[in-house]
Amino acid sequence: MVVRMRVNRSKTGKRRSHHGLQKARVSTCACGALRQSHRACPNCGKYNGRVAVDIVARAQREQRRTKKKQKELRESGQSSETKETKETTAAKA
Ligand SMILES: [Zn+2]
Repeated sequence: MVVRMRVNRSKTGKRRSHHGLQKARVSTCACGALRQSHRACPNCGKYNGRVAVDIVARAQREQRRTKKKQKELRESGQSSETKETKETTAAKA
């Protein structure tokens, strides 16, 4: 970098003085769980006294997805394992 463009440490420090991270604004929900302000509660799914997120449906969906992923992983792992074992047994015999 050309010296003409160089910013001194004081300027750099002043600019970076605003770069610090701030704590998340946290409040307590009516159900007692901590929640971020201006966000729906992750525990009961309520926002401003009404239900905004269907927590039960979301949990079921996530369970279904994890099950599907695990099943796919298992199937892929088994197929590769069986192939490997067959190959190794063939090599041995
Ligand atoms: Zn809540």
